[in-house]
Amino acid sequence: MIATAAELDRQDELASFRQRFFIDDPDLIYLDGNSLGRMPLAALEAVKRATEFEWGSRLVRGWPEGWVGAPARIGAKIAEIIGAQPDEVVLSDSTTVNLFKLVVAALRGNPGRPYVVTDDLNFPSDHYAITGAIDFLREGHELQVIRSANRIHISSDQVAGALTENTALFTASHTSFKSAFVYDMKAVSAAAHEVGALTLWDLSHSVGSIPVALNESNADLAIGCTYKYLNGGPGSPAFLYVRRDLQEKLSSPIHGWFGQRDPFAFDLSYTPREGIGRFLVGTPPILSSLAAEPGIDLTVEAGMDRIRAKSVRQTEFLIDLYDRVLKPLGMVLNSPRDSSCRGSHVSFGHPEAMRICKALINDENVIPDFRMPDNIRYGASPLYTTFTELEEGVESLAKVVRERRFERYDSERPNVT
Ligand SMILES: *Cc1c(COP(=O)(O)O)cnc(C)c1O
Repeated sequence: MIATAAELDRQDELASFRQRFFIDDPDLIYLDGNSLGRMPLAALEAVKRATEFEWGSRLVRGWPEGWVGAPARIGAKIAEIIGAQPDEVVLSDSTTVNLFKLVVAALRGNPGRPYVVTDDLNFPSDHYAITGAIDFLREGHELQVIRSANRIHISSDQVAGALTENTALFTASHTSFKSAFVYDMKAVSAAAHEVGALTLWDLSHSVGSIPVALNESNADLAIGCTYKYLNGGPGSPAFLYVRRDLQEKLSSPIHGWFGQRDPFAFDLSYTPREGIGRFLVGTPPILSSLAAEPGIDLTVEAGMDRIRAKSVRQTEFLIDLYDRVLKPLGMVLNSPRDSSCRGSHVSFGHPEAMRICKALINDENVIPDFRMPDNIRYGASPLYTTFTELEEGVESLAKVVRERRFERYDSERPNVT
């Protein structure tokens, strides 16, 4: 007997966290927390304090009073979420910029090896940053792309088979943005280290949704964003992780005064700081950093084990609804069925996915996420998504498909999807 959505919501030990988010339209079914998380109420307070008091009253005195330490302080909180030491993570720049910095650092730090390996499930911006880093270095590196046979997953053995003594770096999204497939980080790291390659993980779809054990998995490098499951706000700063023993061996290609050993000595030559701070560049964006902190605090408070347990229940609930309601309508499942290798969203496939998403948003007050060519992503963000929302979201989807309500919409792709 399958529990009803209402029963599952009553049993949900994280249910009270929903009240800590700004929800002005209780009828809106928001299933896009994996693209932009909801706003924590405490973020509103943090921004008010950061503007009215800190920026407004304290002015430049704000720097020694807390701003200058914000990247390391917030980085240490993220470290707790991703299984790293507090001095291995720092908040800085965007995910893409951090990827560029760490790809260049890794290739310089592992010289004489021509290949960088990634996969075709990785986020396009990651491909761009990797090829940009290769162009920048002009040392003849080549990118090798592992292909997924089913566009859903890639096995650890497939990765191991692609790595050789000529591989400098393996880099991939830990959780794939379309299918939600999750790599076995420990197995892949072991395979990379066996041939002397470094690993760099993009945690954007993992952080705050699935426990990550960077230290335990022997991960070398990682990056990720804070505006998805960490609910940090649009364009909130990203983070980067460099394992402690690698920090002195690697350095950022973008030399800036925040990565300099003694910035206020105003020395004209660059000497990188010791530790993770050497990967900082320039003045950090304080308002968006402070706005991001409450979402990170909520995640630490709830605990990754409880978040993951609810996330698994929610994605299993979605897949069960898929089997009963969506599969009979001809939709396909574009996510793994095995929850041990699935993140916190489920992708439903339909050739008319884009028009269906338009109908969901305009007619049903359901916000999904369309990803080319045929993916309708339903994200479960365990701190505020309810089982009832998931059920109603699937019912709406079934209605739009069954009654062909999407036919009223054109198939022009919007500027942003
Ligand atoms: C969201 C996401 C990004 C975003 O990069 P930005 O530089 O923040 O725009 C990068 N990689 C992955 C895997 C993502 O999911």
